[in-house]
Amino acid sequence: RKEQLQLLASEEGRTLDGVKIRLAGNISSLKDFDAALKHGAEGAGLFRTEFLYMHRSSLPDEEEQYEAYRQVAEKASGHPVVIRTLDIGGDKELEYLPLSEEDNPFLGYRAIRISLDRTDLFRTQLSAILRASAVGNVKLMYPMISSVEELQTANGILREVMRDLDYRGLPYDPDIQVGIMIEVPAAAAIADLLAEEADFFSIGTNDLVQYVLAVDRMNEQIAHLYTPYHPAVLRMIRSTVEAANAAHIPVSVCGEMAGDERAVPLWLHLGIRDLSMSPQSLLRVKHRILNTESTGAAIIGEQCYRLRTSQEVEAYLEQASVQVT
Ligand code: PEP
Ligand code: MG
Repeated sequence: RKEQLQLLASEEGRTLDGVKIRLAGNISSLKDFDAALKHGAEGAGLFRTEFLYMHRSSLPDEEEQYEAYRQVAEKASGHPVVIRTLDIGGDKELEYLPLSEEDNPFLGYRAIRISLDRTDLFRTQLSAILRASAVGNVKLMYPMISSVEELQTANGILREVMRDLDYRGLPYDPDIQVGIMIEVPAAAAIADLLAEEADFFSIGTNDLVQYVLAVDRMNEQIAHLYTPYHPAVLRMIRSTVEAANAAHIPVSVCGEMAGDERAVPLWLHLGIRDLSMSPQSLLRVKHRILNTESTGAAIIGEQCYRLRTSQEVEAYLEQASVQVT
């Protein structure tokens, strides 16, 4: 079964009736990217950069980061690589950046909030990412955006860093695409406003589920309540896609839900054609796509929106899965 799946690595992700779905990898390192490519990834839809900063005693400088980003960008041979700025805090900590004890770390000093506070770290990272955009198809993405101001402030700093690179005579792509994660309910609710200022959206279901349902993603005791198939989450995803479509910007999904093959009918219904997932999920999801007829699946996806509980949605999708396998 594993060997059979591996044969799919070089095939394009297309439904039986020809709808193309791009499958990219969620990676944290060049090594991860190798694994993703081996499983047929078309680029990296989410490069989590925090691991470059973790398990060490000092900050990685611009050169070191540039090197890491450049290697992935080159290896992608023209496919997009979406580099996300530092998403530290919450469950992830850094030795040299002590974070104070917080009652609710996932609601606290985290991700873009740290970057906009510690602009020294942010500028260094933006410089390195911009420089990598000169050697490959690099896109930039901000995590945990929850307001228009945050996006505007981040983009203001980005423009300053661009001017700085001009001054230093270092090349970068001046038209680099700059997108945001939609992973906070506030962002989903104002997706139309954010779409005016962002070049693309990537829906991060891991955090979106935790914040929409008020269910800590790390808490075993309530793990049974943590599900992306809750109608509230499904509605948030749908309204985000609608806002992206209205603004003519691309939208992808990069949370764990993208790696769950049962969700394929939902993507076909919503018009999502771009998924990013952990390397181990790529072939399983591709297998499902290759065996799916898109119009029938889209109807199944649409039906999910008429159901009232996550149990009903999951059971319905599972029953639909049995029919394709
Ligand atoms: C997410 O929240 O869905 C996501 C992809 O980001 P992370 O898992 O790194 O928080
Ligand atoms: Mg997240």
